[in-house]
Amino acid sequence: MRNVSILGSTGSVGRSTLAVVDAFPDELKVVGLAAGGNIDLLAEQIKRYQPELVSVRDAADLERLRARIGSRVKILHGAEGACAVASLPSANVVIAAIVGAAGIPPVYAALQAGKRVGIANKEVLVAAGDVMSRAARESGGEILPVDSEHNAVHQALRCGSHEEVQRIILTASGGPFLQRDLKTFGDITVEAALAHPTWKMGNKISIDSATMMNKGLEVIEAHHLFGMRPDQIDILIHPQSIVHSMVEYVDGSIMAQLSTTDMKFPIQYALLYPDRVTAPFARLDLAKIRSLEFLTVDSRRFPAVELAYAACRAGGSMPAVLNAANEIAVERFLAGELSFPSIVEIVNRVLDRHASAVAPIHSIDDALQWDRWARNEARGIDVAVSR
Ligand code: MG
Repeated sequence: MRNVSILGSTGSVGRSTLAVVDAFPDELKVVGLAAGGNIDLLAEQIKRYQPELVSVRDAADLERLRARIGSRVKILHGAEGACAVASLPSANVVIAAIVGAAGIPPVYAALQAGKRVGIANKEVLVAAGDVMSRAARESGGEILPVDSEHNAVHQALRCGSHEEVQRIILTASGGPFLQRDLKTFGDITVEAALAHPTWKMGNKISIDSATMMNKGLEVIEAHHLFGMRPDQIDILIHPQSIVHSMVEYVDGSIMAQLSTTDMKFPIQYALLYPDRVTAPFARLDLAKIRSLEFLTVDSRRFPAVELAYAACRAGGSMPAVLNAANEIAVERFLAGELSFPSIVEIVNRVLDRHASAVAPIHSIDDALQWDRWARNEARGIDVAVSR
């Protein structure tokens, strides 16, 4: 039996994680839940899974939850509460699915406590990848990617040694604007940007997929997870999202991982690794899909990708700044303050301002400090809506 703590249990990945737990009642048990403000759903989850420990975002949420469920479970709040759920002594595996930089302290706490952490929150690795890897090494903890591409790479890497790898090929759906006339990008609405063609995901990641900043962040994530240089990581657009990523070996063989577009697959892999257990989820029917396409990335259409490669090459604080500036720019787009092209424009300007001040990241405090700096910068930039 493996005991599971879920950081971000009411979000999309959190709910999928609970569906995986439901599917493997003899293998998996929930012991900790941390969530944001969706108290109704969290209260239901507590009743159903009876965890030892729960954490919510703030004290007001705690009171609301207490009113719903009484004193049957211990409830904490804030970053400290999330860290306590992440490092709960009885937990063997932590699924980290808190969106954005708020996930950094609890993931670090879990790794310091020697847990296996299934990371769905790529921002944690982008902003503080070296610090997280070191924490895992020192404590005997383990990072397993839940991000579908990196999960695919993790599986494909089991076919050879590190030295035998030529390159990683991350696949990308291309998002909703792969075919859209570039001249109309200034007119893109929030609704259109949220309508992802293949994956059903949270708002932040859906916008990141539309700009392809998501794939840029995934390049940085792959760099940290697999110890590959940016020039060893390539991207191919694959609109069907069936091949989740590939590894090319020096002998020319390419190993790919395929499944339906369902996050339950990478989640069950991370929870049950290294075992493979018969799963009840919908299987892939390749004869129905018939054809799989692959295209190169047009950098005029998706300038975010090149920005992310540049940040990865620069290293140090640059990826943390990229990530934080992007988070704010996406927030501002969702709030109707920005045009779609301005998202990447803002990130670009913040990176420019930081270029002469790139600093090493030795601790999560370093990462969080640059994260705050970049957020302020990104909030302050007044973009004349660029079209
Ligand atoms: Mg992904």
